[in-house]
Amino acid sequence: MEQVYNWHLGREMGYPYEAAYPKRQFAFVFNINRCIACQTCTMACKSTWTFNKGQEQMWWANVETKPYGGYPQGWDMKLLQLLEDANPNGQVWSKGKANGSTRPYGTFKGETVFEAAEKTLTPPSSRAVGYLPTDEEWNSPNIYEDNAVGKRGVRDKLDDAGSRLPEHRTWFFYLARICNHCSYPACLAACPRKAIYKRPEDGIVLIDQKECRGYRKCVEACPYKKTMYRGNTRVSEKCIACYPRVEGSDPESDGEPMETRCMAACIGQMRMQGLVKLNEDGTWAEDRQNPLYYLVHVAKVALPLYPQFGTQPNGYYIPPRWAPREYLRQMFGPGVDEALERYAQPDRELLAVLNLYRRSNRIIYRYEIEEGPKVYEGMLRDRPVTIYNDTVIAYGKSDQEIFRTEIEEPLHIRPAKHANSI
Ligand code: SF4
Ligand code: SF4
Repeated sequence: MEQVYNWHLGREMGYPYEAAYPKRQFAFVFNINRCIACQTCTMACKSTWTFNKGQEQMWWANVETKPYGGYPQGWDMKLLQLLEDANPNGQVWSKGKANGSTRPYGTFKGETVFEAAEKTLTPPSSRAVGYLPTDEEWNSPNIYEDNAVGKRGVRDKLDDAGSRLPEHRTWFFYLARICNHCSYPACLAACPRKAIYKRPEDGIVLIDQKECRGYRKCVEACPYKKTMYRGNTRVSEKCIACYPRVEGSDPESDGEPMETRCMAACIGQMRMQGLVKLNEDGTWAEDRQNPLYYLVHVAKVALPLYPQFGTQPNGYYIPPRWAPREYLRQMFGPGVDEALERYAQPDRELLAVLNLYRRSNRIIYRYEIEEGPKVYEGMLRDRPVTIYNDTVIAYGKSDQEIFRTEIEEPLHIRPAKHANSI
């Protein structure tokens, strides 16, 4: 196996394919705290790409309710169990100190889907530990929506101690998912036909429909279960990151890179997508004023989804503040406590960057902040807080201004003449 550096894991790892890093990488940061599960993103994707015969059960973008929901059902618990079986009690992180942007979460001591496959499958029948979901598991994309974890050990009973932060005793949250366009894609490594490729210009992972023969090795290998088999064409399909929009060739985009359909449609304003600069070894090049770089590497509020799987996914999440920390650490790694601490007490810059979400459909390449007047001084969760009405300005690919927005929400007062007009 080729040895590659996985900065999520803080170490080298074996990858059973030749690694290739794009100049810029498609990436996104979803703020779970803001998702309301309206499923507008899900439907925006479905009505654009998967509305044809044979795609009925295919949801490239989906939003599931954690911990019980999943599409396909139980995908993450099954993967975690397979890895635990391969490496009992060994799937742990070192307590060692994080180090800059090449080892921000410490070091993962366990085995990735690639390493576990090499050890447990002799000779390896697949390049990654995985499984093929059953038809039934693909059948109910929104199963267990809004089902909360209640009183431990008591069926159908919510915990009366309920809802006080930092952790709610009765809880669930919405996990919005698309393909992570991973830096070390398991789907790509597993394909015996080499039908899957990663684009050098933006790192988007695509399946060549003419080359695919429907062996479903990618479906089996993707730990996030984001490649899907289509029965009537007998080939596999997956999220294409709305690449005509991202490359600016979509007629609506006027030649300027535009965010995907699911991002653009987000009612909860929890999605931001970008194209981040990479170093030659696949780590993120310093790009201080890029909002994704800031959220992931400077503020460190956004974390990868199941980094321990080893594919170095390019989807990042601001974890939900109310869910149990232990559960969140399993899902997002050891950066959870620091991320939530900062998100709960945002500083001046973080507050400004969070205001960049969904003011435009254009991809933001950098931002600037113009300082404004003090508008609030008081206490927030027992700590002093001061808020300034700063202006945050977003710039696009050609460094043109896309928009500017202020921290203070404008107040609209409905005129009295409309009081009974509904
Ligand atoms: S999420 Fe799955 S389908 Fe998408 S690139 Fe990663 S391994 Fe491939
Ligand atoms: S559109 Fe946004 S808020 Fe609505 S479900 Fe999707 S991610 Fe959540």
